This record gives sequence, C-alpha cells and structure tokens, in this order.
Amino acid sequence: MKLKKLRSRVLSIIIILSALFAFYVLISLIGNILKPNNIIVVDAGHGGRDPGATSITNIYEKDINLEIAKKLYQKLKSMNYKVILTRDSDEYVQNSSRANIANRKKARVFISIHCNALDNDNVTNGIQVLYCPNKANETNDWDNKALAQLVLDHLLTSTGATNKGIVERKDLVVLNQARVPAILVECGFITNRKEAELLVDEKYQDIIVNAIAKAIDIYLDSEN
Ligand SMILES: [Zn+2]
Repeated sequence: MKLKKLRSRVLSIIIILSALFAFYVLISLIGNILKPNNIIVVDAGHGGRDPGATSITNIYEKDINLEIAKKLYQKLKSMNYKVILTRDSDEYVQNSSRANIANRKKARVFISIHCNALDNDNVTNGIQVLYCPNKANETNDWDNKALAQLVLDHLLTSTGATNKGIVERKDLVVLNQARVPAILVECGFITNRKEAELLVDEKYQDIIVNAIAKAIDIYLDSEN
C-alpha cells in the first residue's frame, strides 16, 4: 500500500514537472516569435567600376568604405546582431539593390559607409551623417533623424572630429529607397590630408566602428 502511494506521488511530481517544462518551452517559443529581428545591413559605398572619390593620398573611397564596413560587420556580429554586407569585395552594386537588401530582410537598421570629398578644397574636414526624412507610414521603429544624430554624437565624442552635422537628403537613392531606418555616414573628408591618413589607419577605423556600433545598439535598445 505504502509503495503504491509513493509511486503515485512520484508520478504526480513527474507530471507536474513535465507540464512546467512544456509551459516553459511554449513561452520561449512565443517570445522568440514576437521578438523583433536584429538584422543590420551594412553597406560599403561605391565599388567595382564606381570608385567614389579619390583621396589626397590617391586611395579610392570605395576601398576605405569596404575596410570600415567589414570591421563594422565583425563588431556588430560580436554583439550578437545578424549582419548582412551589401558587398564584401570590390564589386559594383546598384544603389537601389543595396536598399532592397535591407527591405527584403526587414532590417532594423540600414547603414551606408562613405567618405566625403570636395573639389579644390583640402581644408574642410569632419564627420557628417545623412538621413532620409521619415516617411508617412512611419512606425515606432522608424526615426532616421534620431538615429543619425545618435550615431554622429557617438562618432564626434570618440574621434574628436569636426562636427559637420546631420543633413536631410531626399535625393539619395540608397536612402530614399530604403523602407527601414536608414542613414549614411560620411566618415571624414579624404580630400583633407590629416583625415585621409586617419581613415586608412586601423586604430582610427576601430574607433569609428566602435562608436557606430554603440550608437546603433543604444538606438535599437530604446526602440524595443
Ligand atoms: Zn561616397
């Protein structure tokens, strides 16, 4: 008799534990389904037959953009984001295709990496972030201007570079075709000797990448 009682008690405990486990699995599954994705698309501007600007030290903008974009890819991956590069080699990619990658993947952020250049001016220097105005169908997740300001602030604090501000640009295909939060970072002026030299320096590239990654992380954290 005693043995029977014990057996039924053990059985009840097993049933309760199994039910709790099943409940836990169900809750985590629902959590995973409801959780917003964490895809970030990183775009290295220009590429292939489109070299972008040429630096005062004779380096193509497309090559600097790719180096920084690849570093940003690694950094964001190490922070557990899913990261997609629009190009990972010296190839030509149309600007609309770049934005469409972000649209298809429903990325949380699209970030395009560029360097600035001016004709007949090797004095101007500094960092600038371009953004497309928020669209009519904006969601809570969609605030290009706030994202642009956040990224610029972090870049300026980390690099000490000149503040060239955030600039609204409706005309840039890579931004205006994106249906996700999208910004374009002009990491510095490669027509300015000091900035051109800094932008090919690995340590400076790391400072830029860390600042951008931190700002994106804060932006996405505040949106969740
Ligand atoms: Zn460019």
